[in-house]
Amino acid sequence: MSLPHNYEMVIGLEVHAQVTTKSKLFSTSSTAFGAEPNTQANEIDLGMPGMLPVLNAGAVDAGIKLGLAIDAKINPSSVFARKNYYYPDLPKGYQISQFDQPIVLGGKIDIDLESGSRTINITRMHLEEDAGKSIHDMGSGNVSYVDLNRAGVPLMEIVSEPEMRTPEEAGAYMKKLRTLLRFLEICDGDMEKGNLRCDANVSVRKIGTNVLNTRCEIKNLNSIRHVMHAIQHEAERQVSIWESGGTVDQETRLWDPDLQETRTLRSKEDAHDYRYFPCPDLLPVNLDPLRIEKIKATMPELPDTLKARFMADYGLTAYDASLLTSEKTYADYYQAMLKSGAEPKMAANWMTVELCAGLNKSGKELENSPITAGALGELIALITSGKISGKIAKQVFAIMLENAEKGTTQTPAEIVEAQGLAQNSNEDELRAICVKALAANPDAVAKFKGGNERIFGSFVGFVMKETKGQANPELANKLLLELIAQA
Ligand code: ADP
Ligand code: MG
Repeated sequence: MSLPHNYEMVIGLEVHAQVTTKSKLFSTSSTAFGAEPNTQANEIDLGMPGMLPVLNAGAVDAGIKLGLAIDAKINPSSVFARKNYYYPDLPKGYQISQFDQPIVLGGKIDIDLESGSRTINITRMHLEEDAGKSIHDMGSGNVSYVDLNRAGVPLMEIVSEPEMRTPEEAGAYMKKLRTLLRFLEICDGDMEKGNLRCDANVSVRKIGTNVLNTRCEIKNLNSIRHVMHAIQHEAERQVSIWESGGTVDQETRLWDPDLQETRTLRSKEDAHDYRYFPCPDLLPVNLDPLRIEKIKATMPELPDTLKARFMADYGLTAYDASLLTSEKTYADYYQAMLKSGAEPKMAANWMTVELCAGLNKSGKELENSPITAGALGELIALITSGKISGKIAKQVFAIMLENAEKGTTQTPAEIVEAQGLAQNSNEDELRAICVKALAANPDAVAKFKGGNERIFGSFVGFVMKETKGQANPELANKLLLELIAQA
């Protein structure tokens, strides 16, 4: 997707990620999803007079983790501020956020594109509390409802530099950020539930210039597809304004996925003046360097490091390595397969093709795969050791899936044994069958000798049919070639 009239896009994303703590940022209320409205808000979330917020240490640790993962500066002293505005779902009349002293400064995220990878710089990450939810489209008449269960839930706001140039880059950035958050187990990345959402800032300029033109911000995009579509449409809208001699006004806009257009929500003229000031109820967050060191020691191997290692140690393609490190569960499963003796490239193939198809069919995620990594690893080890062929392995795999459905378990080796599926590497037996294969088809032998190499497959096919697919294919090939040379 590109732009007409030699324009390019300038895109910066502000992403809100809900931190997976059990309780809220400043209160002990539960953050569990799906509870009855207004059952998870206490006096602190409701902004009762005299209440005192107490900072959730787990949310701070999550922020430190993210800062370390993106190679950012962890601010030794960050400050919570009051961002004042009135809204029915904000009972205090202000949101506690961080303003000029956020917990994380700078940093970078490498995004994976078809053309390779690119670094996107991060401006900052701050912690803040979420607001409640106003519900306008429920019940009858002119009534709005307010659910304060979400009020006070901890969020990380991650702000990028305006360095992305295409919707694809914005999509790749969202994917990578989601992967990182999930690896760190600090946000579940569930965009459908609104636990990860994105405001996209978009402007356009002529290619070759360096200006930052007036931008529009598209609020609350809740899927990666919406992020990409909204940016493309917004950029096209701005190009046509500039090209028809107009000027783009700074606005906050909404994306309408049904009409595939962005619409004005509010213009800069009615921009809020939030009158930020330090929250008098909260002390600055002074971080002990020891606390940061402790967290550093618990950090998992991160997706980029894992990806590089999978490519260097196992010879995987960038594509496969990206795929297998896009979720921690994938990387863990893959490495567990290798532990039980599977050859790395074959293991990657089996995971991304056969297992994937098996999971799709049974409607399951890898987390509750009917086939354990150990069992699949053993199956692949049987191929590598020559006990069974790849083709027979697929039969065994199908039986493993059936077993799982029936609730029985058999190791791959037991299945091979019970069904008599072991590969036939008996040279004398195979030679006899190869002789039969050539004798049955003298015309084909003549054609092969005359230079038609493709016809060789028919001899192999004969041997496989006779042995119910169990002939060792390499041995059969070798014997057939020897016999033809002698004929
Ligand atoms: P605000 O706090 O008003 O939203 P910021 O300066 O924090 O403004 O910028 C918010 C986001 O807008 C950042 O992600 C930044 O990269 C992006 N941004 C800033 N200027 C532009 C521009 N001219 N075009 C596109 N994105 C921009
Ligand atoms: Mg903004």
